Amino acid sequence: MEPIKQLYKDSFYKYLAQTSDKPLAIEVGGAEGIYFYDTNKKKYLDLIAGISVCNMGHSHPVILKAVKEQLDKYMHVMVYGELIQQPQVELAEKVCSLLPASLNSVFFVNSGSEAVEGALKLAKRYTGRTGLIHFHNAYHGSSHGAMSMMGNETYKNVFQPLLPDTKAIRFGAEEDLLQITDKTAAIMVEFIQGEAGVRIAPEEYWQKLKQRCEEMKTLLIADEIQTGVGRTGKLFAFEHYNITPDILLLGKAFGGGMPLGAFIADKKVMNVLTRNPVLGHITTFGGHPVCCAAGLAHLKLIIENEMWKNAAAMGEKLEEILWKIPYVQEIRRKGLMIAVDFYDAQTNFTMLHSFLEKGLFSDWFLWCDTAMRIAPPLILEEKNLMEIELAINM
Ligand code: PMP
Repeated sequence: MEPIKQLYKDSFYKYLAQTSDKPLAIEVGGAEGIYFYDTNKKKYLDLIAGISVCNMGHSHPVILKAVKEQLDKYMHVMVYGELIQQPQVELAEKVCSLLPASLNSVFFVNSGSEAVEGALKLAKRYTGRTGLIHFHNAYHGSSHGAMSMMGNETYKNVFQPLLPDTKAIRFGAEEDLLQITDKTAAIMVEFIQGEAGVRIAPEEYWQKLKQRCEEMKTLLIADEIQTGVGRTGKLFAFEHYNITPDILLLGKAFGGGMPLGAFIADKKVMNVLTRNPVLGHITTFGGHPVCCAAGLAHLKLIIENEMWKNAAAMGEKLEEILWKIPYVQEIRRKGLMIAVDFYDAQTNFTMLHSFLEKGLFSDWFLWCDTAMRIAPPLILEEKNLMEIELAINM
């Protein structure tokens, strides 16, 4: 047998900041479609799409072409908001054309967390209020503002003090909606909670939440960083509930594999960031032209191929197969956003390990270590389902 090649392993541990004591430390050699490969050419079927990023799969030729063409024109020229840059304008126009009329002004940033930060500032500034509400078990990012909206006290506490005047309510509990008052600037929601392990609230809950927001003139911020761009069986998750948020947050798949985020609102809301003070929210790299070119190519592919339909159809079929994993207690799913719950962390980690050995790459959830994360690229086909089933039965 050839010796295992891992040229960068020692330097990885030596020079890169470690986020945990036990990184997977697989050395990546390449990625294509729904697979990635290590430097020994072992193939992994990517069941998490870079955590809900590569919705059209890895290295899609159309996205690569768009990136290369933009590279040949220009890369960075000047901070966001000063110069007219075609990829930004085209992507903003495209995404607005797919949204309700009141979501018509796009502020590009670099990541999901930054979209959250921008939205929190926007909501405070527009309403003149400071109160912010989030859900138990919410995850909105790791920066200070985003962490203030995190629904996990253990994680938060070691980083206190965070933003004042934030409050957590229970996901899906109608009684708690009364905590939204005329002091509340905004409530931030994930229509399907991601890091909580794919949690879904009763359908009628969302109308009640929206109604309470309208009564209190509280802004509804929808974090669709994980749910957006086709993953849940609709282009955006708010479409499942027939609700238009006041501010929409995008990230992850929005950049088509490049770092890109956005907060999107009505121009009359967004305008409060323009003056008093001028440049109240700025970014050097937000809306980078190469990232916008990738995001636009990706979004066009999603639309042309109606990928949310494939997410819905494949999600259903994949769920049937996932029930064949031993010891599964519950599967929670919307489209291709799936949690396979064993109700036991040890069983989950054992299963994840055995998946990895069989060439299936998966993960757990930040606030739900008893469940396996399944969020493959939306291009999943029948033949991949067979491959997954075969591996599970191995
Ligand atoms: N919101 C949600 C719902 C997320 O899932 C994430 C990332 N997991 C974020 C925000 C933060 O995004 P980023 O890591 O790009 O800052």
